[in-house]
Amino acid sequence: MAEVLVYVDHVDGAVRKPTLELLTLARRIGEPVAVHLGAGADAAAAVLGEYGAVKVLAADASEFADYLVAPKVDALEAAYNAVSPAAVLLPSSAEGKEIAARLAVRIGSGIITDAVDLEAGAEGPVATQSVFAASYSTKSRVTKGTPVITVKPNSAAPEAAQAAGTVEQLAVSFGEKSTGTKVVSRTPRESTGRPELTEAAIVVSGGRGVNGAENFSIIEALADSLGAAVGASRAAVDAGWYPHTNQVGQTGKSVSPQLYIAAGISGAIQHRAGMQTSKTIVAVNKDAEAPIFDLVDYGVVGDLFEVVPQLTDEVKTRKG
Ligand code: FAD
Repeated sequence: MAEVLVYVDHVDGAVRKPTLELLTLARRIGEPVAVHLGAGADAAAAVLGEYGAVKVLAADASEFADYLVAPKVDALEAAYNAVSPAAVLLPSSAEGKEIAARLAVRIGSGIITDAVDLEAGAEGPVATQSVFAASYSTKSRVTKGTPVITVKPNSAAPEAAQAAGTVEQLAVSFGEKSTGTKVVSRTPRESTGRPELTEAAIVVSGGRGVNGAENFSIIEALADSLGAAVGASRAAVDAGWYPHTNQVGQTGKSVSPQLYIAAGISGAIQHRAGMQTSKTIVAVNKDAEAPIFDLVDYGVVGDLFEVVPQLTDEVKTRKG
């Protein structure tokens, strides 16, 4: 069976959920071979094997932490040469997409970014993308070289499938250009204890209707009752009520959770562009004519200051 390279996204060896999703999708095409760069491969291998990785190609070098993405491209190229895979899959993070693009150039392959689904095809993997603010979905395949495909978080539910996950060392030599941009400092963001916006299974977002930074506590309370991330429309961000890192939309982040709750958001096309592929969409808006109601699965016409706290209480009651 053909092997499929899966780039492992991890924080100090703790494998992030999008990688488990990639392993699940990779199994539709062939046998997943994970590529783990940096420390912690042995610990990560247990999880990677649990989700179907037959092999883990591991390389640990200070270059991965000290420089930007180029050394990781060197490593993936080495893995590509070692395996001759049927496809290379990476998460659709900013880093994942940059690595993917550079790798595709290096190996002379076509690339598909931001896939929301992946299936095997007679002539290679077929990726589904959601385009024009999710008004259309397209299916495409790479016709040149080995397909390099990035997949959006939450595109598939991770499914366990025990495989060996045997760790093999990967020899990597770094090119001169790869160490041209040195990282001078890293500042971890203050943790809110909430999941990362693009990876969260549930997102609760507030818009201009929230009417003030102090009122975002209502949105946060609902998010916390559900274990969700908090998002915001650009209007709320531009007003200074919530950080830009939480903006959802064309010029913010693109999310695709199982559940997206929009409170006090009208549903402008630029906002939809970042959330329309969410599996279930719920909106609370006092204007029954608001365009957001055109795309919801469940809509509540009402004042968010009444509806959202009631919803939070109900969730807490049901959770006991
Ligand atoms: P509004 O459109 O003002 O809607 C507020 C809604 O709240 C209304 O529907 C109102 O009925 C409702 N409301 C008010 N009070 C209450 C209440 N008490 N209870 C319930 N409902 C209430 N926007 C983004 O979100 N993300 C982007 O990334 C983005 N990128 C952009 C890029 C470009 C190039 C441009 C031109 C625009 C972009 N925008 C983006 C802006 C976008 O066009 C909209 O202006 C923005 O999304 C509106 O935000 P909103 O829905 O919060 O505000």
